[in-house]
Amino acid sequence: MRASDPGNLLWRKISASAFKLLLLLFLLPVASVILAQQPGSEGLGDRLYPKLGNGGYDVEHYSIDLQFWPQEYRIHATTVVDAIATQDLSRFSLDLFGLSVDSVSVNGADSTFEHVDHKLIISPVAPLADGDAFTVAIEYGGRPAPVDDPGAYWESLGWKYVTGDYYVTDGEPTGSMNWFPCNNHPSDKATYTIRVTVPAGLTVASNGVLTDQIENGDQTESFVWTMDDPMSSHNAFVAVGDFVTVRDDTGPVPIRNFFPRASAEALADTFAETQAMMSWLVDILGPYPFAEYGVVVLPETDSLSDNQTISVFTPAYATRKYILHQLAHQWFGNSVTQARWEDMWLKEGFASYLEFTYPDGIWQQSSKEELVAWAGSGMGAPTKIEIEQLYGTATFWRGALTLDALRAELGDEVFFDILRTFNQQFAHSVATTEDFIAVAESVSEENLDVLFNAWLYEDAVPALPE
Ligand SMILES: [Zn+2]
Repeated sequence: MRASDPGNLLWRKISASAFKLLLLLFLLPVASVILAQQPGSEGLGDRLYPKLGNGGYDVEHYSIDLQFWPQEYRIHATTVVDAIATQDLSRFSLDLFGLSVDSVSVNGADSTFEHVDHKLIISPVAPLADGDAFTVAIEYGGRPAPVDDPGAYWESLGWKYVTGDYYVTDGEPTGSMNWFPCNNHPSDKATYTIRVTVPAGLTVASNGVLTDQIENGDQTESFVWTMDDPMSSHNAFVAVGDFVTVRDDTGPVPIRNFFPRASAEALADTFAETQAMMSWLVDILGPYPFAEYGVVVLPETDSLSDNQTISVFTPAYATRKYILHQLAHQWFGNSVTQARWEDMWLKEGFASYLEFTYPDGIWQQSSKEELVAWAGSGMGAPTKIEIEQLYGTATFWRGALTLDALRAELGDEVFFDILRTFNQQFAHSVATTEDFIAVAESVSEENLDVLFNAWLYEDAVPALPE
């Protein structure tokens, strides 16, 4: 065939183009699928913790089945994550710090994975489409490694040893990822089943309701806890120890407390006021958001933490003000959770305000002045905190003083209406500072720019209201 034959050349050109066109038509759907499948982001861009959490999916439920051998300080677990893709996904990640991963499957099919720093990066065999429900099962184990978080700089976080037979988890802000793989950011709430198996004789406390307790016949016992209300990963909680369970059903909400056996009787007295506090908070804020409440008291260490339906104390911290403060977090912090870590004042400012005004609803002017004098100019704008100020005076005290200023401006009726409306509107969800301002302005029917700018956004501490 001669190239100089114009007819032939034309035909060859046409046939080559047709072939390319056919090839293109044939490959186009495949190519577009491949092109559209993107990896989920490794991090959600939180200003204080940009690498925390993962994009591309929304977790619905965690089912954690964990065995713990205290003698060896070792866990082995399978966590099943039910999620929904929020984009077409070629791969996605979960947060998991330390531990070693044995296997990962997605929708029952073994998947390849990489575990780099605190990211478990999973490549499913079949890509996931936006809107797909999918199930990830991760089998893993080892000795939980302490999580050093610059936000909670005074202690390490995660699953940790306390003393004697006592172990506890400390999830806020980043600790949960040292005992289960999760989308470790408050904005992705999910329900939970937490099953923990320990040597017989030890008790496991966790979130929600104890729905099963099984003697396995091999010197171990399993405790199954169910949390049916959506919960942020940092609120997932386990305590293991020689606890006595003390129930208190004399008030509006069933209470089950876990006290160390040796001091159970004295501690029952210490926490006897909890039901009265519960009634006080229900009056101000509306119904308690969960099925049950309780505290775990640890024999030592400085631990003090709130977790959904269960707070942690040590005897030194078991004082009236802290008992009230931690209980108030069930409304603000756990039911309504800060959408970003920079919104921390929505948790700590609110609980502090309620702590300062318990039990007569009044916060003494002298005590406000004392706080301001003590904190001085170190108490910056709550919305501008850096990571090391997460638990500082700006979030706790200036946050509380912001609410106090709002109450002074609007009067009791409107102010408490705002607290209730905000709590109701964002129950079992997350909220930002802007969400709270919007509720305050809508309930009060006033423009509150001047007040909120001064208290939340400007560096200088405004003058206290008279
Ligand atoms: Zn607090």
